[in-house]
Amino acid sequence: MDHTSNFIKNIMIDDLESGKRDHIVTRFPPEPNGYLHIGHAKSIILNFDLADEFNGKTNLRFDDTNPLKEDIEFVNSIKEDVKWLGYEWDGLFFASNYFDEMYDRAVLLIKKGLAYVDDLSADEIRQYRGTLTEPGKNSPYRDRSIEENLELFEKMRAGDYQNGEKVLRAKIDMSSPNINLRDPVIYRIAHATHHNTGDKWCIYPMYAFAHPLEDAIEGVTHSICTIEFEDQRPLYNWIVEHCEMESQPQQIEFGRLNVTNTVMSKRKLKQLVEEGFVDGWDDPRMPTISGLRRKGYTAEAIRNFCRALGVQKSNGAVDSQMLEHYVREDLKLKALRTMGIVKPLKVVITNYPEDQVEMLEAENNPENPEMGTRLIPFSREIYIEQDDFMENPPKKYFRLFPGNEVRLKHAYFIKCEEVIKDEDGNVVEIHCTYDPETKSGTGFTGRKVKGTLHWVDAKNAVPAEFRMYEPLVLDEEEENEVEEGKTFLDYVNPNSLQVLNGFVEPNMKDVKPHDKFQFFRHGYFNVDPKDTTEGNLVFNLIVSLKSSFKL
Ligand code: ATP
Ligand code: MG
Ligand code: MG
Repeated sequence: MDHTSNFIKNIMIDDLESGKRDHIVTRFPPEPNGYLHIGHAKSIILNFDLADEFNGKTNLRFDDTNPLKEDIEFVNSIKEDVKWLGYEWDGLFFASNYFDEMYDRAVLLIKKGLAYVDDLSADEIRQYRGTLTEPGKNSPYRDRSIEENLELFEKMRAGDYQNGEKVLRAKIDMSSPNINLRDPVIYRIAHATHHNTGDKWCIYPMYAFAHPLEDAIEGVTHSICTIEFEDQRPLYNWIVEHCEMESQPQQIEFGRLNVTNTVMSKRKLKQLVEEGFVDGWDDPRMPTISGLRRKGYTAEAIRNFCRALGVQKSNGAVDSQMLEHYVREDLKLKALRTMGIVKPLKVVITNYPEDQVEMLEAENNPENPEMGTRLIPFSREIYIEQDDFMENPPKKYFRLFPGNEVRLKHAYFIKCEEVIKDEDGNVVEIHCTYDPETKSGTGFTGRKVKGTLHWVDAKNAVPAEFRMYEPLVLDEEEENEVEEGKTFLDYVNPNSLQVLNGFVEPNMKDVKPHDKFQFFRHGYFNVDPKDTTEGNLVFNLIVSLKSSFKL
């Protein structure tokens, strides 16, 4: 499928046409140290779509070279999320399965005089590295003999040293204008149990060394990564070349996706989870794939959103309203339109016969007649929204107030006759009369009313919990632009979740997790897959309707 043109696709076309490549292999390489977020979705969709377009392959590779932060829980969630987004990987790989080969390649570098064991501490290495304007200095250990380096590296592997006591560095150029080439560390000691290799290793390759080797081992042709790795590209190429890898992957950078009103780094998301700001990685307020899914986003909406963004060469923040737009678009014709009352107010229709219940026909989706109709009960007592009644309304308020007549969606006109209050003066019940002539669908044109209210039949309605969401992070927090002395946590929206208890139509008592509805005037909702039980329906607000409705 041809979506739109982009610069990475053009590189692939050129490579195929010039004969530089005869096939395309991409990969999605998450580190299993957290759950995937919408930024990762962008990368997944880009990698899989591009390969698809050229009948190529895409691997899912876990970049699990850091035993300290990684966990099998994250591996499983990542697999689930990629599948849910609609993709099937060709190969499923773990970078940790290449540790033997990586070790051998490091030994090869030592033998070629291109790597050495350094005893400097991490701090000293940083000091010796120099700055953008000042060249680095050689480590006093830089000129160790090949034999000594081989022996020391072997001892590092054998566990003879403590964490941080020694590292292996590539021997490149301490005065290179590119700081990444000033003898980067390629192996470090970490006495830690790895989720895949257990205690087999106590030395681990650094990302910058491991990544190009992983790509080359798998025969990846185009290694797509985010812009912050641009300065590492010369090192990437150096490693592929000097480690004598047969396959020559090409690194290509693109701009990271950021979305307003949220944070997008795993470190921050983890902090929100661990410090209890949210209820887990899949909290519907999180920008994680699992959070968006639980909130009610569809994979299709996320794919359409990411594709519409195209591929940029620089980082940029996208308005969260754009993401919302795509889920509305996707659900518009699919979601059943029904009535839910989030803050109930009882209405008694005093001239309606006491024991009568009639079934009224309602369209399931006026924009999609194929969805048919349903029958909803109507009787003497109903619930409307508290917000749809005002005792002393301002001008241009067309909903219910004493003496005013409104239309009940799919039912009749009712007129407010009396307001019942409790001892404290709170409105607890409204008494209305209805006009049988005005029944919906009968073509009544006798008179017009301006307000249409939604409602549910009080006797048959099903109680439901509504979880109303606002953005997790307040507007002011543009990532990296946090005011001095504050952290992003100071911008967490204290009202990001509001729980309301109300009612839905009786025919909704058998809904299933992830069923999606549009509640008239409120927006789109998803049946929460975790907290919904037999007697307790929980609906998550996916997105409100575009507000055409003004007081
Ligand atoms: P974070 O900084 O949020 O932890 P990461 O880049 O460290 O993300 P990885 O697991 O290393 O996360 O990323 C896997 C892939 O997803 C990488 O190729 C990375 O470039 C890509 N990716 C991560 N975040 C984004 C983003 N915001 N936009 C586009 N691609 C992203
Ligand atoms: Mg990372
Ligand atoms: Mg990162």
